[in-house]
Amino acid sequence: MIVTSRIVCSVFIAVLLAVLATLLAMLRAPDTRPSELLASLAEMKQIDALWSADVLSLELGLNPNYDSVAAPVGKLAERYRAIETLAAGAPAWGHDLSASLAAYRSAMDDKIRIVERIKAQYSIISNSSRLLPIAAADLFAELEGSRPQSNPPIADLLTRIVIDMASYIVTPSEQLRQAIDTQMTALREAAGRASPEAASKAETLLAHMAVILRQKQLGTRLIVDLTAVPTAQAIDRLQRDAQALEADQNRDRSLLRDLVLACTFLLIAATAWAGYLLRRHYRRLNQDNSALQQANEDAQSQLIQSSKLSAMGQMVAGITHEINTPLAYVKAVFCLIRDQMAEMHPVGTAAPGTVAELRPAAADGQPDDRIGELNMLIDEGLHGLEEITNLIITMKNFSRLDKGRLEYVDIEEALDSAALIARSEVKYIADTVKDYGKIPRIHASPTQLKQVFLNLINNAAHAMADQPKRGKLTLRTRAESEDSIRIEIEDSGTGIPPDVLPRIFDPFFTTKDVGKGTGMGLSICYRIIQTHGGTISARSEVGVGTTFTIILPHRAKADAEHRLEQAAA
Ligand code: ADP
Repeated sequence: MIVTSRIVCSVFIAVLLAVLATLLAMLRAPDTRPSELLASLAEMKQIDALWSADVLSLELGLNPNYDSVAAPVGKLAERYRAIETLAAGAPAWGHDLSASLAAYRSAMDDKIRIVERIKAQYSIISNSSRLLPIAAADLFAELEGSRPQSNPPIADLLTRIVIDMASYIVTPSEQLRQAIDTQMTALREAAGRASPEAASKAETLLAHMAVILRQKQLGTRLIVDLTAVPTAQAIDRLQRDAQALEADQNRDRSLLRDLVLACTFLLIAATAWAGYLLRRHYRRLNQDNSALQQANEDAQSQLIQSSKLSAMGQMVAGITHEINTPLAYVKAVFCLIRDQMAEMHPVGTAAPGTVAELRPAAADGQPDDRIGELNMLIDEGLHGLEEITNLIITMKNFSRLDKGRLEYVDIEEALDSAALIARSEVKYIADTVKDYGKIPRIHASPTQLKQVFLNLINNAAHAMADQPKRGKLTLRTRAESEDSIRIEIEDSGTGIPPDVLPRIFDPFFTTKDVGKGTGMGLSICYRIIQTHGGTISARSEVGVGTTFTIILPHRAKADAEHRLEQAAA
């Protein structure tokens, strides 16, 4: 049930995260096209309005540079292309701008055509306006040269016509045009009367005037047409479309923001739920873990206990063996004493069987040699008993119940003591070499260290047991540094293969047959040395032997006593 909830929760969180990431990516990259479209349209509207004003100024003669009216065409075409590109994505947003764009395009084409015509018409007017004063001057000269008396009325007429034409070019009106028409007829008649040359020159002048009048009329019509072209309206329509687009997009973005908020909220809720499930799960795991740890500790302490018992058993066996030899010896001595005493005669009233009351049965009254022999045998017996006493003291010392109590330990004495306990294991298979350096006593637990040394010596003995040659066990001590010592226990046994070497300190690791090894010896050694604040390591070569090196500080770690006591409990 919990597992299902956890899976559901994880899948839900993963989906939410994916959705949230997508939404955030969409929010972080807003579509700027509608606002760019609006900016381009505003620019276009401005250019269009300025263009119309330029054309009007040209027509009114306020702007003599008619090239300037062509310049905006390029700018507008450029904007149009940009707008067309931006608007290409509009159908995807639910807005189709193509109709508005087509309307603008057609209005724009009309406007360009009209402007082209205005340009042509303006160039014709300016050409005739330039030639008009020349033709008028020619006519004056002609009139003055032929008949001066008839000139004043024609000259006046000519002057008026030129002035009226100039004002018509700037502000054309129907009334002025009619007046000019009348004056033109009058001039034609007056010039005809004056002379054929004057008539011909007058015709040239009148032809220019006619062109100006005609083009001016056409210009007025073109301006009307130009103002009727709906480019501004088409741009307005496009702007309305773009604004609708932008509004839609803003609405979408606000919806997106709401969705992000909702997703975030759901994510927080789902994470809290997952946290609750995890907490519950970890609480159970912790409980199981503690139970397992407890079971493991129980199993370990049982094994440690049994390994201690087996060490004790081995020690008892060793000691029994060691005591047996002097005991047999003492027994033999006592048998000899008894035999010697049987041959002696009791004297006086002394209690029979006591040495002091015995006299040698010598006939010549000389002291019997057997008294001296008897004394020697008693000395031998006492020596045997002393050996037994020493062994018992060693055993007592070795197994003193000091648990982990720390005191200043003589390491060499502790090594000797362990070697003596293990003597029965070692003596038939190897020679023991003691290579002791001058090392100070160190602050440590003697019992625990002896346990370590005994273990290492026993392992060495086992490793040398099946070797064809008699082995060599070296016990070495050296000063390691100013505040630490080094102890080496080296054997010439089988050695440890490189693949086994890294595992020998693991609890329960053994290569010995079932019932022969627990695999706890080295792991206990490791723990004891580590608790003292020291290190233990092994180097080995198969077929050559193994050396265990222990480095110990002069003072055990501050809490070592407490921890060793706990371990020994
Ligand atoms: P056990 O002696 O009960 O097997 P230990 O922890 O004392 O457990 O030793 C673990 C293993 O390390 C041994 O089984 C043996 O394979 C290896 N070993 C330890 N000391 C030596 C040694 N001096 N020479 C060769 N192998 C050794």
